[in-house]
Amino acid sequence: MYKTYFVYLLTLLFTLQFTSATAQGGELSPEKIRAALDEAYTKYKDVKEGKNADYIKELANVDSKIFGIALVTADGEVYTKGDIESMVSIQSVSKAFVAAQVIDEMGHQAMMDSIGVDATGMVFNSIVAVEHHRGKEINPLVNPGAIAATSLVSGADSAAIWKSILNKHSEFAGRELSLNMPVYISEAGDNLRNQAIAHLLLAYGRMYFDPVEATDIYTKQCAINVSAKDLAVMGATLANGGVNPVTKKEVVSAETVMYTLPIMATAGLYDDSGIWYYNSGLPAKSGVGGGIVAVCPGKFGIGVVSPPLDAAGNSVKAQLVIKYVVEKLGVNPFMIQPK
Ligand code: GLU
Repeated sequence: MYKTYFVYLLTLLFTLQFTSATAQGGELSPEKIRAALDEAYTKYKDVKEGKNADYIKELANVDSKIFGIALVTADGEVYTKGDIESMVSIQSVSKAFVAAQVIDEMGHQAMMDSIGVDATGMVFNSIVAVEHHRGKEINPLVNPGAIAATSLVSGADSAAIWKSILNKHSEFAGRELSLNMPVYISEAGDNLRNQAIAHLLLAYGRMYFDPVEATDIYTKQCAINVSAKDLAVMGATLANGGVNPVTKKEVVSAETVMYTLPIMATAGLYDDSGIWYYNSGLPAKSGVGGGIVAVCPGKFGIGVVSPPLDAAGNSVKAQLVIKYVVEKLGVNPFMIQPK
């Protein structure tokens, strides 16, 4: 009798321990995660380096003191620190999610054939990169490839394509996202360079929708408002193989994620993509609005918002925070314990 109770108790203890370990994403305990976010926030909150982007006039007016951190695990646990209410325009972070949408709709080979996935090695809005590759190898995470990706999203007309992109972003974030109208208007009145890129792509047969309308939809997608928490849930959806861990909805396939993360790893942080990957080991994407999302595959997504950018166009504090958290939690995927 006692023996049966003993075995029962042991099994119960084992099950409890096992489920709580997996629920926390392996070795990551809530205490450890909370401590990492708290420490990162305190350590970097007074950093003064960097400057808001101002080539899109409205971005210069965004409060540069906004500083929010969120980490969402692949099983939907949400951890936050700082300002997660304030929203910034998603800007280039949207490129990763539109790339995923295109891969999901058309397949990974179509992304290779119609756009190309190698890093261009040139600045994000380079016309020379398009000219140099004659419209090929333009990468969906920098402007030419991103506008081409937007032009590939299926939809009968421009309104339908925009609706589909906004819906997909909302599914990634697990809530209905909306447009930051002042940022959209500000950039739409001033995006001749992106229009030039779209037209040049058309000339090379690499623009798949009307170039003026595709550039306009792209400008709208960049003006979607997000908080640090939105970015973290979006990242966690990628970390969880395409299923939003909060809403449990499948947003894209696991195969799509498998092809999206490598592009983020090789081209996610502008000209500093290599430096970022070298130091963090995590696929990530930044935007000139001041947000960065990073993905720890199978474990979590982390989103940080802080508008001041470094010379490469990446949020200074967001990079510091994510690197700190990765190190503190010991989750760099390339840290391999020898057998
Ligand atoms: N909408 C911005 C542009 O096209 C996005 C830039 C970015 O975040 O890198 O210039």
